[in-house]
Amino acid sequence: MIQPELAVAAIPSDERVWVPQAPDVWFRPLLLNTVSGGWCNLLRVRKSGVLSRHRHPMMVVGYVIKGKWFYREHDWVATEGSFVYEPPGEIHTLEVPADCAEMITFFNIQGAMIYLNDANEQTGYEDVWTKIEMCRAHYAANGLGADYVDQFVR
Ligand code: FE
Repeated sequence: MIQPELAVAAIPSDERVWVPQAPDVWFRPLLLNTVSGGWCNLLRVRKSGVLSRHRHPMMVVGYVIKGKWFYREHDWVATEGSFVYEPPGEIHTLEVPADCAEMITFFNIQGAMIYLNDANEQTGYEDVWTKIEMCRAHYAANGLGADYVDQFVR
């Protein structure tokens, strides 16, 4: 059976849809893909500095909706309207510059995110299942209800 389509306002009118990821960092789930493993979300950051150092086992593509950010390992800055492709195997460190009050970026992340320390030792990971659990816990606590996340799961 073909799974149902999805069409939603990417930036939600209800603030509760944003799931806290870290202080001043949130994600907004759009598609939680349990078939091939991966997810689409918006990442919203309202602080500057390093967010995370990570490795991608599979590819990532992104589109910057607002603000800007960069990877320490590269000499470019992704600004509003930029498209970004991140190849499998790449390790990089996400940073938001000091003169950016808010950035919002759409990411399509395949597989997982592997979080690393400066010695490239794994400190954590995220995959579609950890994202679903984060959403479930947040929506259960804020009144939307744990099953609010189900509409984004395929
Ligand atoms: Fe990345």
